[in-house]
Formats: sequence, C-alpha cells, structure tokens
Amino acid sequence: MRWVAVIPMVLAFALLAPSPALAAPPPYYPPIEYVPAARANYDAGRTQAIRAIVIHETDGTWLSAANWFQNRNSKVSAHYLVRAWDGGIMQFVAEGDTAYHARAANPWSIGIEHEYDPRHAIPHTIAQYRASAQLVCAIAKRYGIPTDRAHIIGHNEVPGTDHSDPGPTWNWTYYMQLVNACSWQRPQPVARAALRTVPGQGYVPAAGLEFDNVSDEVLLLQWDLAYLGFMEPDDVAAGGSRFGPLTEEAVTAFQDAKGVPSTGAYGDLTAAALVKAILAAPGDLPIRDLAVGAESDDVARLQSILQRLGYMDLVTGYYGEITADAVSNFQQDSGIYQTGVYGALTRMALAARMRPTLAREEIVIEEVALTRVAFVAFSIYPY
Ligand SMILES: [Zn+2]
Repeated sequence: MRWVAVIPMVLAFALLAPSPALAAPPPYYPPIEYVPAARANYDAGRTQAIRAIVIHETDGTWLSAANWFQNRNSKVSAHYLVRAWDGGIMQFVAEGDTAYHARAANPWSIGIEHEYDPRHAIPHTIAQYRASAQLVCAIAKRYGIPTDRAHIIGHNEVPGTDHSDPGPTWNWTYYMQLVNACSWQRPQPVARAALRTVPGQGYVPAAGLEFDNVSDEVLLLQWDLAYLGFMEPDDVAAGGSRFGPLTEEAVTAFQDAKGVPSTGAYGDLTAAALVKAILAAPGDLPIRDLAVGAESDDVARLQSILQRLGYMDLVTGYYGEITADAVSNFQQDSGIYQTGVYGALTRMALAARMRPTLAREEIVIEEVALTRVAFVAFSIYPY
C-alpha cells in the first residue's frame, strides 16, 4: 500500500474499542512485537479461509506505517510490518481478523508490509528478507499454504489491484530461496547443531559415521571425499546429507587407496587418514570462518572463488549483503543449509567445486561412473 509521505504523528487512542484477544502464536513463529491497529482499520474474524500471503512495500518509514495503521481515519492496516534495519517484526492485526491491505484479497490473505523508503535511503535488507521469510514459513506451516509464487504474491499481483508494490527492487528470487529453505514442505535432513569435527581439524568430521546416518557431519565427509576425487560434487549436492550406497562405496575406495581396512564405515582410522590426505592436498581457500561484516584478504579470496564459479561479480574484500547472498546461493546449490556464512561445509564444497576439471574428466570416463549414473536414476536414496 502507499500513503502520503508526510503523516502527522498520531497519539494513542484511549477511547478505542478493545482489540480482540490475540492468541499466542505457535512456537515456530519468529519473535513478534504486537502493536494493535486502530479498531476501525480491520474487520473482526474471517469470511474465508486463509490461503495466500500478500507482500507489500511501505514506500515510507516503518514509523509512518505504524502510525498510519493506528490512525482510525486511515482505514488501512496490515497484519505484519517488517522493519528494514533489523528485520524486526511488528504485528498490528491478528491473523484471525481481516486487515485492510489488499481489497478483494483481504478475506483470504495475510498482509505483510516491508519497510522501504527510497526518499530516506531505506532499502530492503538481508535482515528484512530473512525475517519476512521466517514469518512466511511459519504462516504457511500454520495454514498449510504452499510456499510458491501462486500463494505468496505481491500486492501488484492481486487480481484487480491498481497498486504497484512491491516495486522492482524487491528481490523475489532471493526471497523465495529463503522461504523455500525454511519451508514446511521441504524435508530438512540437515542437522543444525554445531558441526562435530576432528579436534583442531575443522574440515574433517568426527569419526563414528555409518550407513543410513543423516547429518551435517555426513555432508562434510561427502564434500571431503568429493574434494579428494572419491565422489562427484553433483552427487553430493543432491544427496541430502545421507550416508547411502554411494558414500559407502566412496569411503571403501578411499580406505583401499590409503591402506586402511575397508569397512565402508567412517571410524577413527579413516578419519585420521582423511586428515592426512587433505593436509597433503591443501586447497586455496580461506581457513577461517567468515560472516557478514568481515573485511580482509580472506574475504577477497572467497569472493574471487565465488566470482570464478559465477556467484558474484565484484571482489571488494568486504563481506556484505552481496557476498552473503552469493554464499547463500552457493549453499543452496550444494545441499547446505543456507546461512550466508562461510564455514567448514561451504569451504569444502567450494574446494571440491574448484578441483581441476581435468581430474574430474578422468573420473567421468571410467566405467564405474556410468554405473553410478544408472544407480542414481533408479534409486530414491542413491547416496
Ligand atoms: Zn501494498
């Protein structure tokens, strides 16, 4: 929705009808601050089932939007507003009530405003996209709304609307990636606890992995094996962090190559051999973890690698939104939970992707590789 740029500050209304009691949201909702809209700006209850989420852009500051929703003369509201600078979420109308945000779509949708104000140099931010995606995921889960563009729509896409928000700076591609990364519809096998690794060797998982395990540690093992040429990066990327037949085969081949008893399971001896093998073939990647705000030669190195792989254009040495975005995209393509942070999994996946193409071509011409392709085609869990 759009409103005039300058809105007089509206003070609290002592005489408003009490707003309906707000039931506590389910525990999977992100933190929300409740700031009731003026009672004149929404209808109590719903006449239709909630089946879509409408994305709006404020074209003004969050404060002007909040004031407008609390102004009983505005006849305008939204269920939520997500601030730009910190991704803070404010709620103005209960989901069970009908906010006035998208006319014909009001009865069957939930409206989320996003602070955006080019006149005050307030852009959309990563924090805002992330918080909003979390909120959308939670709402979608609560009502069983599919997390696709047919059900998560722009105000400008509501049938019959004359509104143009969100404008062209709203990054739908990035936003839907975030939404799908946390979607209730997507299986989430990846453990998000701290990665357990060999002490002092953050790029090698701790021993004790075996067939059928599903975890980040398995994924790290797979990327290590891909880096050393025992697995195909594309297989790992699509593998869902699961220790399946391909992983067992690769572990066995690695054990045979290193003179370790070939058990097909990942125990202490294999872990020690893996540390040795990787130390003997160091990759040209930053060793330390990196995240938004970092500025160093390491960041520049990471950026140049992301650039070579086609994930970003400019090397600046500063880890900002663009770099986090690029890392996040690379993570998604690599089966890694999207954090935008450069850590062990991302390091080894990048290292594996940067392996000389020559070595990979040699593997591909082996007949074994053809057998693998056939296996992939006919197995649900080929890894
Ligand atoms: Zn709108």
